[in-house]
Amino acid sequence: MSTDTRRPDEPAVPGRPAEDSPGRGTLDRRPSECVIVGGGLHGIHVAAKLLEETEIDHGQLRIVDLNHRLATNFRAKATQCGMESMRSSSLDHVGVHPLELELFAARRNRTDELFETDDYPPRPSLSLFLDHVDHVVDRYDLDDLHVRARVTALRESDDRVVVETDEGTLDAHRCVLAIGHGNRYTRPSWTTALDGSAVDHVWDRSFDLDHWGRVVVVGGGVTAAQTALSLSERGADVTLLARSGLTERTIEADQRWQRWNHIEQTLHGHPPGHRARLRRISRARYDGTVPSYLLRDIEAAVAENELSVVDGDVLRARDDHESGVRLAVTDGRCLRADHIALATGFESPFDHPFVERVAAAEELVRGEAGMPVLDDRTLAWTRPDGVSSSIHVVGALAMGSVGPFAGNVIGARLAAAQLVDALSLRESGSSAVAVEQPAGF
Ligand SMILES: Cc1cc2nc3c(=O)[nH]c(=O)nc-3n(C[C@H](O)[C@H](O)[C@H](O)COP(=O)(O)OP(=O)(O)OC[C@H]3O[C@@H](n4cnc5c(N)ncnc54)[C@H](O)[C@@H]3O)c2cc1C
Repeated sequence: MSTDTRRPDEPAVPGRPAEDSPGRGTLDRRPSECVIVGGGLHGIHVAAKLLEETEIDHGQLRIVDLNHRLATNFRAKATQCGMESMRSSSLDHVGVHPLELELFAARRNRTDELFETDDYPPRPSLSLFLDHVDHVVDRYDLDDLHVRARVTALRESDDRVVVETDEGTLDAHRCVLAIGHGNRYTRPSWTTALDGSAVDHVWDRSFDLDHWGRVVVVGGGVTAAQTALSLSERGADVTLLARSGLTERTIEADQRWQRWNHIEQTLHGHPPGHRARLRRISRARYDGTVPSYLLRDIEAAVAENELSVVDGDVLRARDDHESGVRLAVTDGRCLRADHIALATGFESPFDHPFVERVAAAEELVRGEAGMPVLDDRTLAWTRPDGVSSSIHVVGALAMGSVGPFAGNVIGARLAAAQLVDALSLRESGSSAVAVEQPAGF
């Protein structure tokens, strides 16, 4: 596993690209076929898939990411909450061939890192999954494509997208936005009453599993459960505060949403950008749920008095410098803590300032809650005349077309399969197709 200790969003030398980066100094302005903005799990899978299954060759592709290393965000977040295995199955990985993670494990005598799961394919250890990510990066020489820079703006000009970065400008025929959730974390309003040093989101840089006394972990999902267990294993006095208690679910939504034909039938019948799509997705998602293997561990820790679980929400929070934080909870209890660890998820990617800027500059259409209006088939962001732009969207930002698993690894696989067709269509000279405009906001 990696020994890189740098935090997310931290370039090799702050503010400058790394020595060996193609982003160093003046960027190569010769237009490439495709620039992928974002080198997380989604950007990596899209790159591998395009190199493997389209005519785009290595010299015609770029991945722009401000981090020193590809997949930094996921690596850091998973490590930060003490995660040991993936929730998703061994079929969900960033390689191209569906069974390649299993094969990767078998060839390295690591099949004991594929854990049996009730009524679901086995899931890999985090370490196996991440080693396979590195393997895919090496196999397709993706580090050589990595431009270490922050994209500040996108502009369409003639048949090109101009990608402006803090290190210079790149030109491409197509751009794929794979920017993830955008690292903005949800903080309940009651936290504003507290001293900032007493509250961390578990993905804040300041959060440290090893520096706790009495801690309340807030949240009812997999990150909350994993963080509570990790803290308690390190000797902290942990209370897990879950608004509706802990609910068991194997994965984050009904498995049928992992098939494109189900997404087409169930989601695409509603106009792109329409609120009915978001309603359908939110009904389909099992947010704030915990898989059985974690729930059993939580129950065992509760039985051993190693942690407690409280069902409820915070009514009021108060900071008392003598006795720490006091939380008045809906069930009438008062919880005391030295620290609060928020495992309360991400803010919507739809209104991320970068997304707002790109949409405004190019007049790209947005629907309910700012959701990008995409051509469902090609995931190209739509212009007001209904014609596709050269900017394609994957990941959580493409949820309106890819469905409830859009931000997950399987969502990357679903989206990349669409992109292969879309970018191949371009090569055979097909023209952009107008899509139905959103209605009824
Ligand atoms: C703890 C944890 C556990 C998870 N477990 C699972 C699981 O078991 N199974 C599963 O399927 N999913 C899981 N997920 C969900 C999902 O797979 C991840 O969130 C996934 O990492 C999202 O990848 P991404 O590439 O879309 O986003 P990110 O990993 O956030 O990558 C986006 C990249 O874009 C870059 N970027 C953004 N804006 C710019 C810009 N303007 N210029 C340059 N670069 C930019 C960022 O630097 C970043 O590297 C988990 C998530 C977390 C946090």
